[in-house]
Amino acid sequence: MEKVIEEEKQGTTVQLNDKKENGRKLYIESYGCQMNFSDSEIVASILAKEGFNTTNTLEEADLVLVNTCSIREKAEQTVRKRLEKFNRVKERDNPNMKVGVLGCMAERLKSKFLEEEKIVDMVVGPDAYKDLPNLVAEIDEGRDAVNVILSKEETYGDVAPVRLHSNGVTAFVSITRGCDNMCTFCVVPFTRGRERSRDPQSILEEIQDLVNKGFKEVTLLGQNVDSYLWYGGGLKKDFKKASPMAQATAVDFAKLLHIVAKAQPNLRVRFSTSNPQDISDDVLHAMAAHRNICNYIHLPVQSGSDRILKEMNRLHTRQEYMDLIDRIHDIIEDCAISQDMIAGFPTETEADHQDTLSLMEYVKYDYGFMFAYSERPGTMAARKMEDDVPEEVKKRRLSEIIDVQRRTGLERAQYFVGKTVEVLIEKESKRSDQHWAGRNSQNYMTVFPKGNFKVGDFVMVKITDCTSATLIGEAVGYSDMTGPITIK
Ligand code: SAM
Repeated sequence: MEKVIEEEKQGTTVQLNDKKENGRKLYIESYGCQMNFSDSEIVASILAKEGFNTTNTLEEADLVLVNTCSIREKAEQTVRKRLEKFNRVKERDNPNMKVGVLGCMAERLKSKFLEEEKIVDMVVGPDAYKDLPNLVAEIDEGRDAVNVILSKEETYGDVAPVRLHSNGVTAFVSITRGCDNMCTFCVVPFTRGRERSRDPQSILEEIQDLVNKGFKEVTLLGQNVDSYLWYGGGLKKDFKKASPMAQATAVDFAKLLHIVAKAQPNLRVRFSTSNPQDISDDVLHAMAAHRNICNYIHLPVQSGSDRILKEMNRLHTRQEYMDLIDRIHDIIEDCAISQDMIAGFPTETEADHQDTLSLMEYVKYDYGFMFAYSERPGTMAARKMEDDVPEEVKKRRLSEIIDVQRRTGLERAQYFVGKTVEVLIEKESKRSDQHWAGRNSQNYMTVFPKGNFKVGDFVMVKITDCTSATLIGEAVGYSDMTGPITIK
């Protein structure tokens, strides 16, 4: 994983498994968060059942879908540029090509999209993918199609995702949808709706299916996984209205972790994203109790200033966050922690920014995903606050944040030099066909000479060197899957 990622640049093409033939070709690109990539696997599954065959060649596609992100303005600009490209291809090579926009941007702009971008035939929000067969039938008949209805219940628990671009080793499993946190900067509650959790039984079944297919690691996905709560279905906010029996037998995130880790002791389990106000000590104890739950928490903080945290409606203080970091280190040995940070939120002063830098020095994050504030229409911050930090100030603060992250990231990586760590081999190294690449429990990409090992093996690797993003070493043998994940 790269230290500094611009989520919106992760567009890809995909390959689907075919179910029945309809002679038509689908091309799909995904942008944004892991959730979007996971959603594209749901979409792929729904359309594969309709007989769509996929292609990696845009020019030969009958249906082009783009799964979009609205989190920052730049993410939306990227999609608009892709639509221009689709338009050129349609005019030049493929006049019958149909184009659909999926995901958060579809939800945000709704039918306005059809007016603004003439190329778009279909607009589908994140909760409406099961309606795709009907929507495709409509555009086939020459009408534009829109479904952006948000659901109280939809979790796609009953759709078996088609694994796209899979390495056959690691997979995402979605466990919650939507978000109730209402951070003032964030568009997600408006584009993905209220928070709801997926039936643990269907989560276990999906994981069992992955294990049967040889997968070795899952990442449980949600905007706020710590808030997971299954009480028979429905919105998280309606939990209090559930029957006493439903409340008493509810499954929270800590319980879900125990259930998954125990059910599949040889499967690595990760999760993302955590929220400081919702992660419980029970979750930390569950992580400590199971060897197969990875020692890594993505714990966005966004700012180190109490005043800005309050303006962002983040429901914790700087001190509470620091206390949480201390508890993580007390309860979980060698736990890596990563952050999301926003530079230049409205009203942010130099003193607020210094608080962010000093918090980063305190935590010593292993990784970071750092962004300049981007005002999003409809959010509370856009409605109530002026975007008053000049662009060049945002940029300068962001680069100072990135500098601290690079330094602490390198320090944290150096901790592993001289130690032996368990690595799950995922793929060939990008830089050398003589080396494997895989991650250790703490999520550090680790490269080492291939030897006789193969993709999917758990290997103990002695670390000899590092950069701030990568550990470099030599394999010393297979992991026995019971001993320490880091030998000191
Ligand atoms: N649910 C997680 C949380 O609450 O922390 C992550 C939400 S978001 C999909 C991923 C990251 O994008 C956020 O953590 C935040 O740092 C960043 N982000 C969200 N809205 C933003 C905005 N308006 N401007 C800049 N960055 C933003």
